[in-house]
Amino acid sequence: MSSFSVLPFLTVAVGTQPGWRLDVSYAIQFAYLIATGLFIFSLKWMSDPVTARRGVIAGVGGMLLAVVGTLLDPQVVHFGAIAVAVAVGTVIGVPLARVPLTAVPQRTALSHAFGGLAAGLVGTAKYYLWLGEGAGELTALRMTAITAEIILGFLTFTGSLLAAGKLQELKWIPQRPVTYRGQNLVNLSLLGVALVCGIALILHPAMHQLFPAMIALSLLFGVLLIIPIGGADMPTVISLLNSYAGLSAVAMGFVLDNKLLITAGALDGSSGFILSVIMCRAMNRSFGNVLFGAFGQIRKTGAGMVQKTVKSETPEGAAQVLEQAQLVVVIPGYGMAVAQAQHLVRELYDQLTRRGITVKFAIHPVAGRMPGHMNVLLAEAEIPYDRLVEMDDINHEMHQVDVALVIGANDVVNPAARHDPGSPIYGMPIIEADKARTCFAIKRSMNPGFAGIENELYYADKTFMLFGDAKKVIGELVKQLAGGGGIR
Ligand code: NAP
Repeated sequence: MSSFSVLPFLTVAVGTQPGWRLDVSYAIQFAYLIATGLFIFSLKWMSDPVTARRGVIAGVGGMLLAVVGTLLDPQVVHFGAIAVAVAVGTVIGVPLARVPLTAVPQRTALSHAFGGLAAGLVGTAKYYLWLGEGAGELTALRMTAITAEIILGFLTFTGSLLAAGKLQELKWIPQRPVTYRGQNLVNLSLLGVALVCGIALILHPAMHQLFPAMIALSLLFGVLLIIPIGGADMPTVISLLNSYAGLSAVAMGFVLDNKLLITAGALDGSSGFILSVIMCRAMNRSFGNVLFGAFGQIRKTGAGMVQKTVKSETPEGAAQVLEQAQLVVVIPGYGMAVAQAQHLVRELYDQLTRRGITVKFAIHPVAGRMPGHMNVLLAEAEIPYDRLVEMDDINHEMHQVDVALVIGANDVVNPAARHDPGSPIYGMPIIEADKARTCFAIKRSMNPGFAGIENELYYADKTFMLFGDAKKVIGELVKQLAGGGGIR
């Protein structure tokens, strides 16, 4: 880490070197040092809504500095090729930045796929370059780094592409887990063979026939790793793939002898891992269960299952009940994001609070399709942040709540998670909407949520369904409360 030492830069900065000569390599390392600091602060700031915007700016600034620093390197000579790469990246990146918030998980998966592919291709190029210069260049350390880069990079590439396709619900990709007997054994054997190829190459770098085999096995492993995983677990797997992409960047940093890549990759890898742990905890699931549990398979309905009925209500009727309430808890979920109903939810909040009704928003950590999904949407609609209450805190007072208004949330309010050991979501903490005096649930149909299971909340005595698109239903509620429907 000596080249990261601040001392030489201070020397440059204060200009004590004769003639103020700027040593380019010092400038590059200084840019990298600042970029590393910006990446760390970026992560820190992004963890709080108040400083999140600053965090994004710091991250972008850090990346800009990293790119400029790299371009200053006298070894960088292929500016034409770099310009083409920047143009291609811009053409792909700009439309990707404009996807709706609901599509951010699959967009993120695509970014990981590109990151993994880049690491894999750099590793491939370096291997053949050094092989051409004589096998002596391929030291054990370099070969170890290349092996890690190839396996992690290429499995992240195909795994992330498949995960993005599943989340985008592409017709030609099965959404539900694809499982077969001995699947884990096949997958682990495949990874084992790829690792054996890697070890053989570390010991004998000239055995170049093994190199394409290692690439092919890694690409195949990425696909086989993802096919047994169900839709509801995809966001967790995506953040796990994020950490693989980060680790492949670390390996790439060793291959290219670039310290910034090592630190940035380590930050990326560890933050992806921490996010996966947070999601697993919020769902009360283990990593093993997420990766090998084939969660999200459609459960067959038993022949003797009792035919249950639901009660539905009109917006007029619901508005009358809401008007009488003292405490209303809104429980938003994925459906609110799909309908983009957050701005009308804000209007509903205004109507209710104007009448002196207390309104709180119950936030489940995995409501929607990524952690913080609901927080971002509600912040966008400028709902006061202190009205948002974490799941554990709101559950203490759910039995005092007059109306629980569930807006497009399903799995995160399913009471089966609490008491049905046969349910795939058994043990997942939920927001206890069923404990409120009255519950209104807004959704378009009786279709299940992401986990693919029925929700007994909808059949409860105290629950009334408000069928329809969340934006339309909330709009009608607002109209009623504003007097448009004759209600005061
Ligand atoms: P959910 O269980 O996926 O249910 C969403 C509901 O919204 C559906 O039942 C759907 O019913 C309804 N809906 C869709 N579009 C709608 C619209 N335009 N208007 C009204 N309703 C609409 O959502 P959730 O309760 O938020 O649960 C999140 C799921 O994702 C959980 O299974 C969780 O474990 C999983 N997950 C999340 C994360 C994360 O980080 N957030 C991570 C890992 C896993 P209709 O089709 O009938 O309308």
